[in-house]
Amino acid sequence: MTPVPDHAVNRLRAWRKSISTRPFLARGGTLPRCPACQLRHDWCACAWRPELKAEAGFCLLMYDSEPMKPSNTGRLIADVLPDSTWAFLWSRTQPHPELLTLLTDPAWQPYVVFPDCEKDPARVTGEVVLAPGKKPLFILLDGTWPEARKMFNKSPYLDGFPVLAIRPDALSTYGMRVANCDEHLCTAEVAACVLEVAGQPAVGQALQLWFNLFSSRYMAGRVSRAPGEDEAPLLQALSAIRERMQEP
Ligand SMILES: [Zn+2]
Repeated sequence: MTPVPDHAVNRLRAWRKSISTRPFLARGGTLPRCPACQLRHDWCACAWRPELKAEAGFCLLMYDSEPMKPSNTGRLIADVLPDSTWAFLWSRTQPHPELLTLLTDPAWQPYVVFPDCEKDPARVTGEVVLAPGKKPLFILLDGTWPEARKMFNKSPYLDGFPVLAIRPDALSTYGMRVANCDEHLCTAEVAACVLEVAGQPAVGQALQLWFNLFSSRYMAGRVSRAPGEDEAPLLQALSAIRERMQEP
């Protein structure tokens, strides 16, 4: 069996599970799943998981039971970038002390990734411009769309940061999408776009490919059809990334 990668989202998931008073019943929760990639065992994608490093960090604020959902895609970011992804459960009034420490760490320059800011449009930018010696820290609000908006509007500790609004249609990674998640991009896709905006398109593309494979197999799992031959180019691209991972 594939070991579960030790990263922030999987640790948060384990902790969130431990404080649950009743078992979490996810949609499709009765399927036996690979504990690492959350796909049906026979369609486990772990062998293709890219693990990379980026000159950027991600801070996921996850809404309530989001870390426990097999369909959550914030986890895919931590899969690809385990060394620079943090994850916290969202709280309006009691943000985790480690979250506050991260947000004030001088090594990082935080951006809240969100499409707009009605209260203060001057906060919104489409670019990442870094002060000397700083790396970008992208704060992603991980939940349903209404939950993300609630987190955006009710987190006073985020109010001082610029809001990075991405235009996916202007980015090359967007053209690689094979699956659609409602009308909004999934959290992992947003992160892939953000990496491109931040000048790290190769890492963004690896994340997009990993998302595409996950999402194609996850959707296949729901309707009980086998993953199709259309996966071949995806698997090829991910294999090439894994080969480069082995190089010194
Ligand atoms: Zn797996």
